[in-house]
Amino acid sequence: MFNGQTVLLVDDDPTQLLILSGYFQGLCAGAVLEAGSAIDALDMLRQPGQAIDLIVSDLMMPDMDGIELLRELKHAGYDGKLALISSLNQAMVNSARKLGDMHGLNIIGTCRKPLRKAGLDALFLAPDMPRGNLEAATNVDFTAEQITAALENGAIRPFYQPKVDVKQKRITGAEALVRWLDPERGVLTPAQFLPAVEQLNMSSELTFALMKAVFRDIASWKRQGLEVKTAVNVTAGEIGVLELPDRIGQLLRDEGIEASDIAIEITENAVLEFNTDSLEVLSRLRLMGIDIAIDDFGTGFANIKSLKEYPFSELKIDQSFVRGMTDDPFSQETVRAAVTLGRQMNMRLLAEGIETAEEWEFVRKRGVDEVQGFLIAKPMPVEEFVPFCLRNDGLVSLPPVSDLEDAGQIAS
Ligand code: C2E
Ligand code: MG
Ligand code: MG
Repeated sequence: MFNGQTVLLVDDDPTQLLILSGYFQGLCAGAVLEAGSAIDALDMLRQPGQAIDLIVSDLMMPDMDGIELLRELKHAGYDGKLALISSLNQAMVNSARKLGDMHGLNIIGTCRKPLRKAGLDALFLAPDMPRGNLEAATNVDFTAEQITAALENGAIRPFYQPKVDVKQKRITGAEALVRWLDPERGVLTPAQFLPAVEQLNMSSELTFALMKAVFRDIASWKRQGLEVKTAVNVTAGEIGVLELPDRIGQLLRDEGIEASDIAIEITENAVLEFNTDSLEVLSRLRLMGIDIAIDDFGTGFANIKSLKEYPFSELKIDQSFVRGMTDDPFSQETVRAAVTLGRQMNMRLLAEGIETAEEWEFVRKRGVDEVQGFLIAKPMPVEEFVPFCLRNDGLVSLPPVSDLEDAGQIAS
């Protein structure tokens, strides 16, 4: 993936430089340059004929820190990729990232120290495994005509990922995740086409086409005796459109299902863009009986006070905190805090991105109500989802608690 590319590593800590340079050499980067300070990095960047494809920078450095470096990179017209690495807390890393975005820099992601191979792989090698992070993935160009055609002919359609109730170990819900089945490119993930959809102002077309398909599926499941409350992801922009509740109400009636059969997920970052119209829309949706989940909790900047002003019924803890939380105290604290907050606000708590038995056990112990993740199932087409739910009457096999505790793998 980094074949022939020039990577510039910026860190005042020689050990970190060593780890990173070994890592990128392993990825067959064309050249790996090292700078011990932001000032050195800028000098290297300004060398005539120097083309740098990726800069990986620490945030905390003497003389010039990573935040200043962001500004200087903007002034230097740097248009390559940028990744931020830091031992600072997540809020600080998030604000640095936000700042980079505001400068128009192409920030592909962030990684916290201590560096681990899995974390670096997730950042640099997994564009095909997006983690709710649209910026991190390769964007494909589409025209409005192509998108309209794909919406009309059903090439853009929902996949379903089950949500499992922790106490019952039973599938009680699902999330609809959009996919584009392209005859040439295969199954495209949201990260590959949602940015184009948003850029072309076609988010609302996509949402309604997808909702229609999802509501139709729910109606058909109900006829088969399958009750699975299914959530649809909606963008911040759409929540500000006053007609949204009426349009959803109409769609529910058209397909003959109830408001309680569905839920809506809104990413935490979106809360920042809320205004009076958003509050009106959310309140009306809740009055209709639709559950509203705050998605990717922990990645945004929404302060707790503003969260309390909106009628959310579920809190989804972002997978970045779930991933590796069995050995990362920071993530463990975030999960604990989210659970406390969710309880105080009477919300259901869901942990996303559960991949391992240890992660499942950790969130179960912390009192999370629902889990979602590859440990149970990946998002799947409707033809697979229905048999998956009907098997064992919706019961899923999750690792027994005692085995893990006996093996001493779980730290409380
Ligand atoms: P999200 O709503 O937070 O969805 C969860 C994402 O995590 C999904 O990625 C899902 O496939 C992935 N995931 C679930 N379990 C695991 C796991 O155990 N490990 C890992 N590594 N990943 C897991 P997906 O489907 O690529 O969607 C990415 C994001 O795109 C979603 O994040 C959501 O923000 C957005 N999105 C998806 N479908 C729609 C849609 O229909 N409309 C809108 N507006 N946004 C959508
Ligand atoms: Mg979601
Ligand atoms: Mg999420």
